[in-house]
Amino acid sequence: GARDTTWAVHVIPDAGRIVLTFEDRTAAEEVSQFRRDFVANVSHELRTPLTALQGFIETLRGAARNDAAARERFLGIMERESARMTQLVDDLLSLSRVEEGERQRPIQAIAIGALVAATLADLEPVIAAAQVKVTLTDDTAGASVLGDTNQLRQVFGNLIENAVKYGGTGGTLTVTLDAPAQHNALHAKGIAVHVQDRGPGIAQHHIPRLTERFYRVDTHRSRALGGTGLGLAIVKHIINRHRGRLLIKSALGQGTTFTVILPQS
Ligand code: ADP
Repeated sequence: GARDTTWAVHVIPDAGRIVLTFEDRTAAEEVSQFRRDFVANVSHELRTPLTALQGFIETLRGAARNDAAARERFLGIMERESARMTQLVDDLLSLSRVEEGERQRPIQAIAIGALVAATLADLEPVIAAAQVKVTLTDDTAGASVLGDTNQLRQVFGNLIENAVKYGGTGGTLTVTLDAPAQHNALHAKGIAVHVQDRGPGIAQHHIPRLTERFYRVDTHRSRALGGTGLGLAIVKHIINRHRGRLLIKSALGQGTTFTVILPQS
């Protein structure tokens, strides 16, 4: 944004000096703007299901009172809407917990291959329901990374769930672990985990914004699938805390690959 700088000239006669002070308020302004946007977004996200719930309660009291089939259908929708609100609150709490601990680097040594396999096993019901075929390849020979078990499970859980959700029914999911020679200038060795789907893909201009809070390519589709729009924001924060990197590659009609690179322990 535009810089917001105030400056003042102080003349101190006794000392025979002139003091010039600058105060840059840009950063502070941006933070408070970000906070306002965030609160507005959260309010909107909660308001939508609440309005729906209120509407259905009225309908159940009135028009649908003696219609058993309609009642059942509306109760099903109400159940989904309240589950989504619960998910939203859980995601908001995750996000604030991750942000709080962001300066502390996790120090546990974690066998990354086993962690990814366990995350896939946890998601077996979701994967089976979507009839997705999974291939897991681990070329790291039991390498470990420095990390936080729960947070890394959340990262891979979110990426795998997205691949299943957006990849479409009957799709394929390929999870590959390898050890690239160079992670970055600071870490000579890193472990890469690639989560690849063969879904519809994401247009290039969306990619840099995917990890923003509440950013969705298709809001309607995300909502219909129970998404909160916070999953990738949480993923990004957790990876930052691990001093790792997130790479996103996608081609329309071909699929998407999310790559997480973590420093090897
Ligand atoms: P959501 O709760 O909406 O899934 P995320 O933060 O996890 O939120 O993802 C943000 C958006 O990125 C999604 O709404 C979706 O549009 C897009 N997205 C994420 N993963 C994929 C994927 N594997 N294929 C296509 N689009 C994806």
